[in-house]
Amino acid sequence: MAIILDGKALAKKIRENLKYEVDSLKEKGIYPKLAVIMVGDDSSSKIYVRNKSRACEEIGIAYEEFLLDENIEMKELLELIDNLNNREDVGGILLQSPIPKHLDINEAIKAISPEKDVDGFHPINIGKLVLNQNGYISCTPYGIIRLLEEYNIEIEGKNAVVIGRSNIVGKPMMLSLLNKNATVTICHTKTKNLSEITKNADIIVCAIGHPKYIKDYFVKDGAVVIDVGINRDPETGKITGDVDFEEVSKKASYITPVPGGVGPMTIAMLMVNVVKHYNM
Ligand code: NAP
Repeated sequence: MAIILDGKALAKKIRENLKYEVDSLKEKGIYPKLAVIMVGDDSSSKIYVRNKSRACEEIGIAYEEFLLDENIEMKELLELIDNLNNREDVGGILLQSPIPKHLDINEAIKAISPEKDVDGFHPINIGKLVLNQNGYISCTPYGIIRLLEEYNIEIEGKNAVVIGRSNIVGKPMMLSLLNKNATVTICHTKTKNLSEITKNADIIVCAIGHPKYIKDYFVKDGAVVIDVGINRDPETGKITGDVDFEEVSKKASYITPVPGGVGPMTIAMLMVNVVKHYNM
């Protein structure tokens, strides 16, 4: 039976440590602040935003929310971002996705100052990740690396397979593992014989958004399995990952649960990135 990678516990520890850091910043007269922009009222986004605001509150990071009408024009969104870029009291800016289709998410992300891009989505920060230079790393891959390190799981020299190539998870995950000297393969919907590839993996990171897609025959004995997926199980209505936990946990050496694995780590690393702004 696999050892559970307890993201919830590690995230709590990270938040506690950050609280001390924030307190000492405040003693120096520095008051960290995160600004969150949400356009429209997507129900999942509301939950994510609430979790982020709670984490800020716990750590002592000031939090300001901008809820924009779903019919706003691009110009208004860019004006708000420009305003936040210029505000000295704001250290981090986060644009909650998705945003309505008539707005250009890439243009909006590009408008955020790279120094305040705590999500690590700006092309400059992605470029820094490619070059293995110091910048903001996208919170989910950053959290996964931190979790692997916490459990002393070796990355260097390992065969890592990332399933999913989104800009926010799959691609930065591939780069983060490569920067830690793994040999990385990245898979997507056009990949042929997926299970033949994953069967050779020492580390599997799955971020596809299909409940319980990864079965035991995808996984070799002793592999480390990281489940990024957040899905609603059509049968039970419960939140479930991309990995069939019951089957795969019998074969893997380590596995992340859903919930309680990658999700809390993502939020914790967002907080790390906000505090990082004040140490850059
Ligand atoms: P996304 O933008 O929809 O990307 C999904 C990726 O998976 C795409 O690259 C797609 O390939 C690939 N894919 C889909 N079905 C596949 C299949 N059957 N075989 C191989 N590849 C397949 O999703 P995302 O934003 O990366 O999120 C993925 C999942 O992670 C979702 O469940 C999301 O809710 C969750 N998530 C969790 C966290 C967290 O903190 N835990 C953070 C972010 C996202 P193509 O490129 O070929 O279409």
